[in-house]
Amino acid sequence: MTGAGSGPATLTDAATFKARWVDGLVAAYSRTVRRAPDAFGVISRSAPRRGKVAVVIGGGCGHYPAFAGVVGPGLADAAVIGDVFTSPSAEQAYRTAKAVDGGAGVLFSYGNYSGDVMHFGLAARRLAAEGIPSRTVLVTDDVASGPDDRRETRRGVAGDFFVFKVAGAAAERGDDLEAVAAVAERANDATRTFGVAFGGCTLPGQREPLFTVEPGTMELGLGIHGEPGMRTVDAMDAHDLADALVDQLVDQLPAGGDGRVAVLLNGLGSTPYEDLFVIYGRVHERLLGAGLRPHRPEVGEFVTSMDMAGLSLTLMPLDAELAELYDAPCETPGFRLAAGGTLAGEGPAPEDVPEAERRTPSVAPPLEETDPAAGGIAAAALTAALEAVVEHEDELGRLDAVAADGDHGQGIVRGMRGAVAAARTSGATGDTASDVGTALLAAGTALADAAGGASGALYGVLLTETGGRLQALGEVTVDLPALADAVDAAQHAVTELGGARPGDKTMVDALAAFTGELRAAVERGEGVADGFGAAAARARRAAADTADLDAVVGRAARLGGERGRGSPDPGATSLAHMLVAAGAVVAERCRRQGGRT
Ligand code: ADP
Ligand code: MG
Repeated sequence: MTGAGSGPATLTDAATFKARWVDGLVAAYSRTVRRAPDAFGVISRSAPRRGKVAVVIGGGCGHYPAFAGVVGPGLADAAVIGDVFTSPSAEQAYRTAKAVDGGAGVLFSYGNYSGDVMHFGLAARRLAAEGIPSRTVLVTDDVASGPDDRRETRRGVAGDFFVFKVAGAAAERGDDLEAVAAVAERANDATRTFGVAFGGCTLPGQREPLFTVEPGTMELGLGIHGEPGMRTVDAMDAHDLADALVDQLVDQLPAGGDGRVAVLLNGLGSTPYEDLFVIYGRVHERLLGAGLRPHRPEVGEFVTSMDMAGLSLTLMPLDAELAELYDAPCETPGFRLAAGGTLAGEGPAPEDVPEAERRTPSVAPPLEETDPAAGGIAAAALTAALEAVVEHEDELGRLDAVAADGDHGQGIVRGMRGAVAAARTSGATGDTASDVGTALLAAGTALADAAGGASGALYGVLLTETGGRLQALGEVTVDLPALADAVDAAQHAVTELGGARPGDKTMVDALAAFTGELRAAVERGEGVADGFGAAAARARRAAADTADLDAVVGRAARLGGERGRGSPDPGATSLAHMLVAAGAVVAERCRRQGGRT
């Protein structure tokens, strides 16, 4: 759940919210917009222009970049700004429109809400009384808000953007008032939107959200002001949600158009862009499947609802004229389009995308697709290590969150899954130094690739260095001196890469303890089984002892290393868990092979 009074808007006094954000907008984007004289509105720096129809949009605020953020050359000439979710007054609409009239009349366009209709309507009458003609195009794109045969009763939501874009471009190319109104009307007739909310939104100055969505559910067909949805449904995954949005719209699309469809997947304010793209991927696929070609799709925030969690899908079938206007250049605070539609041009048709670009990149195969019995001792030891970090994943995340970003549990599990899969498919099935080395080399490369992050790079190097040393030994059995040499070399590589020394509160503390004890065991004349076991136990103690240290390198050092005092280092902890688990497997194997080594 989001929206529970979390946004900075709650820090703002409701009474001054609008004035203050408009001040900020105009300060930031003075290259494009300025304040309407004596009015709560912003106007394009290029307005008024003699002989050009003025496109005036507006509504309550809380929907940025609608409406003030889409004012500028090629789009709207002005936006009238009401209070949050509240229509602006007739007086404000009149003054703002008057300021941008260039003698060719005013096209008003806004969402179909009664407050807006009344106030903008009154403003239009005042303009008419002064001899300034105007036309009005109400946006009515929300399919959830009225039946198809009474579309004029529907409310306007994210489809605002399509209608404004088309109207703005038509006015820019010099169409007269009737023509601008006609093509904007056509855009509205073609546009359909359906939305969903996952969480409510919070009004400025409030601590509680305007409404809430029960955990585990979604509101289908919710408006952009917290109007109740069409129905509450169980939460869906991205795939099913994309299908629900497409299914809801595709059947209702008007006939006509040339197969191209403008697509807007709109975030309502606090839905991460990454989530939007996850959903868009499926939407795109479904549209193609329905014989529609997405034309210059947009994924992002265009008409928001404060910090509401949710999204909507808008479709507008295109013909040559609508496409030309939709693609025409514009320059506004919230949306820009270079001349020629896009600088990069159209993307390739789906069938022209090379096979390698269609696949999700994957270096190691998914673990589930590998044979657990495949690979030699290295794969078995890595599997045990993976199981150990899976068991401690949450704990590792918590340790990392004490002074850093909390991702170590997830990162190391992801990395080790890749490492195990790579070791199992490396083709190294025996227990010779060459085989163990080959498997560890493959595992290290895969780990670094899959895990990313500081620890991914460091654990990757640890495995690849150890692997490389062992592999060079060839078809011999790995004895303890060889293992100690290899791990020693790997420790050097790790400290060279990361710059951490023992005592700096990192995984190097566990690693150095491990290496030191391997050396001691060599001195004692022990074999691999005992030596590995003793060294892993030392590493575990060293990891626990990092609780007394202050971090001096890595993310955890940024806040001053004391933040994590009393809590052990996550990297040292994960390494110790893995070494202990791997050590048990190694000992077991050695014993089964009759005490060799
Ligand atoms: P990230 O810091 O990129 O979020 P992780 O959270 O996965 O990476 O790993 C954090 C761990 O990585 C730390 O607990 C520490 O053991 C280790 N680490 C980070 N930076 C270094 C470094 N420069 N040298 C050695 N170990 C480091
Ligand atoms: Mg981290």
